[in-house]
This record gives sequence, structure tokens and C-alpha cells, in this order.
Amino acid sequence: VNVVASRPGVPHRAARGRRIVFAPRFHGVESALQAPRSSSSSGHPLADDSVSAGLRRRAAEIDAAFAAIEPLLRRLSPRQFEDDFAARASAEIRAALGFDVPADHLTTTWSTPLDVKALYAHCVLATFCRLIERAFDRGLSASSDGENAEELIRRWGFHAIDITPCADGRLSGVVDYILRVPPAVVVSVKSHAGAMFDVEATLRQWEVVELERWRTSTPNAGTAPTRFLKIGVYHFSSVDPSHGGCAAHGSDANRAAGALLERLEQFEAAVKAIHGSEAATLLVGVDTDTDAIRVHVPDRAGRMAVARYIDNRDLFERTRNLPRETAKDEIRQVVADCAGVAADDAQTEGMRWLCGYLLKNNISQVAAVQAWHGGSYADGGHTERLIVVGDPVDAVQLRNLAFQAQMDTVEEAAGDLDIGIKILRELNVPRGLAIPILVHFQYDSRIPGARESVARRARRLKDAILARYASLAAQGVLHVHAVVRAGNESQLAAIESAEVFA
Ligand SMILES: [Zn+2]
Repeated sequence: VNVVASRPGVPHRAARGRRIVFAPRFHGVESALQAPRSSSSSGHPLADDSVSAGLRRRAAEIDAAFAAIEPLLRRLSPRQFEDDFAARASAEIRAALGFDVPADHLTTTWSTPLDVKALYAHCVLATFCRLIERAFDRGLSASSDGENAEELIRRWGFHAIDITPCADGRLSGVVDYILRVPPAVVVSVKSHAGAMFDVEATLRQWEVVELERWRTSTPNAGTAPTRFLKIGVYHFSSVDPSHGGCAAHGSDANRAAGALLERLEQFEAAVKAIHGSEAATLLVGVDTDTDAIRVHVPDRAGRMAVARYIDNRDLFERTRNLPRETAKDEIRQVVADCAGVAADDAQTEGMRWLCGYLLKNNISQVAAVQAWHGGSYADGGHTERLIVVGDPVDAVQLRNLAFQAQMDTVEEAAGDLDIGIKILRELNVPRGLAIPILVHFQYDSRIPGARESVARRARRLKDAILARYASLAAQGVLHVHAVVRAGNESQLAAIESAEVFA
């Protein structure tokens, strides 16, 4: 599978010194950007095409950055024995890709040719790191119908959202693209194979958020009657249900939903048992072919069921020819029906609003996928470019960009990592390319010794990965790069980078 070549419409690059300029990838992107917010070129009255256009532009930039690697290396490779190759190649890589490659990667003699595997992996990891440092504007969905979305969410009863998607790369864009929730309200996005999050770790996350509310009234006072919301995201494939779904659950959507629902119920029960408090939970499914979600709306008692949900593909069709306000009323009614309550039921109104908000946001994404990909993605399967382990990277989101699995040690998530290695191995090794793995940890710079501590953790995790997949490492097809960063700053610091690519 030639991933790069199979991606249609990749824009050409024009290198101007250190800056890289990208042409828009799809026709209509620029005109959609200039179109007034109300005019919906996607054909759905509830689709916010201006947000979609911004997201698409970002996606095109990310796609183009990775798509540039292989053609450049193909051009450089035949010239590797020319005089002064290392210096020329270094300059061309810097001009085209925007980063430096260590000299030893480009130095050749007639008996030791270029290690293209290593060079490729270096370029993929460096591109990903450059995109993190690029610090994209993630505020595209900061408002909803002209109101501050974070405040709206709080007003409807939720002060923090914690999201656990499956580690599958097709959910890489779950926050910004699929759900379009403003990052300001999202306190944690941790991916696990099959979305099987750790209940105890999530309870600790809950405690951190609640402590901050009680001590500093951030984001609101501890006494305010709002809840912490945990959203679990499983996935399935409408095009190829028995093979294209979640690998961790045997591609069985019901099994994936059932296992995740059980975890969500355990988390709620733990909050109740330990703190006598109420957390909110929501089960959401994603069709990875269309990005349409299923929302399992809680009933009056807060209970959800695997078989009771709203399928946004249906809702999309039901509302696409309605006037905008009528379409919104229709969503409200469908959500109330799914919850089994009246549309004016006060007890459930906050959660019902939130379900409607997510459905409406997702309509924009479904419309975007329809407009840009003709209904469903051409690449239904995996085309991830790298594996990210350690702490999650939210700054660079795009479907199928990275297989992300959160862990401090290999032991706690070995199964997750095995799935990621299997996916990338099948994608890259037949093409003679290495598997790029980024070990990424964040630390709080206000805590003395925190940087050293995460640096040790990063080094340990890197060593453990190389040991677990020793035969792949010996074949030179495993490339692990470890970085740490302070808080949410975009600047990354490499840990033992000289050794990593030696
Ligand atoms: Zn999965």
C-alpha cells in the first residue's frame, strides 16, 4: 500500500527559504472560507462551513507536510554518491521540510549507502514535532451559534469534559473534527485500545479537577451544581462492519459499546463510592467511514443502553432539507424521544442539550466528509504515519495521523502497543520503511525535578519498547524518538536524540 501516493489531491509545495507555503488541497476551500457563515455550501442547514473550511485547511497543511517526505527522499536517494551530497541534501531537506537532519544520516561512502529507512523515520518524527511546534489555532469551535461554547457547556451543567477514544488512528481527530468540542473545556483526552480506560486513573483525573474547583474556583466554584463529564468513544465501520471496526473488540460494534458502557458505569460508581458525588458519563460511537456519531442518550435515571442511540447519519438526512430552526427543533425532539422524556423535562435538560450540541457539531463534520470525500473516506482502513506513546498529543489532530496509546510504562499497555506496532508494520515494512514511534511526556515546570522525572520516564519507555520489539529494532525498522515538553507549550525538547538515531 503506497500511502502517500494513494492520497488524492495532495497539494504542491513552494519552498521559500525556511517558510513552506501550501496551496489549498481541495477546490472550494478558499471560497468557502470567504463565504458568509450563514450560506451553507455543504447543503445542510446546520453545517458550519466556515469552521469546516478552517479545519480542512489545517488538514491540508498536515497532509502536505507528510506527503512531501517520500518524493524528496526518492529524489535524493539516487544522488547519494555525488560529491558534497550530505551538504546539498541537508540544505534541500531544510528548504522543503523545514528541519535539520543530523549529518551522520546523510554521510555516505561507496560501501555504506544511505540508510533510507532511518532517514524516513527521522523525517516523519521531525515533521510531526514541527507540526506540534507550529501550534495550530485550536479555537475554531470556540463558539456555538455566536455564544462562547465553553460557557454554554458549563451553563448546561458540565464544568469539564474528559474524553477517551480508542487508540485507533481513525479517531485521531475526535475532539477537533468529529465532536468539535472547544479544547478549553476538555481536561483530558487519553486514548486506549478499545477505549478501555483505567477507572482508577480517571477517578484521579476527576479528583484533580474537583480539587481545583474547591481551592481556586477554576473553572467554577466547587459548590456550583455542575458535573465532570466522561465521554467514551468506541468505533465501527458502516462500509465493512465485520473487518473495519475496532481491532480490540474483534470488529464487533456491540461488544465495543458494551465493554465501554460497563467501564463508564464503573467510573460513575467509583466517584459515588469514594466521594459520594455524581459524575456524568456519555457513550458515543463513531462510524470511521463517514465520521457520523451515535449518541447513546442517557434516560431519566442517567442510564444508557447499547441498543438505544441516535444515529447521526439518519438525523443528518432527516434534517437536511428543513429550515435551520426547524432542524434544531427536530434534533431536540429526537433526543428527548431517545431519552424517553418530554421535550421540556427539566431533570434531563442539561444532558439532552449536550447530546444535541454534539449531534449538531457532528453534522458539520458529516457534511464536510460528504463534500470533500464524496460521502465516505476512500481510505477506510489504516494509513497512520506514526505511533505516539506516553502522554497524548492533542495539538496535531487528523484522522489516521497517529496511533496513540497512553502509558507510563510498556507493561501497563503492552497490548495497546502491540496493536499499534502491528498496524504500522503492515503499512510500512512492505514498503521498506521503518516504524516511527514518538515517546512524548509533559511536565509541570512549576514542580521542582518534574522535567528530570519525565525525562527518565521517557528514556525508560523508549528502552522498554526497543527491548520488547528487539528483532524489529535489530532489523532497523523501529525508530523511537523521545521528547518532553513543559505543560501545553509547543516547544519540544529531545531526550538523548543523538543516541536515538545513531
Ligand atoms: Zn478501536
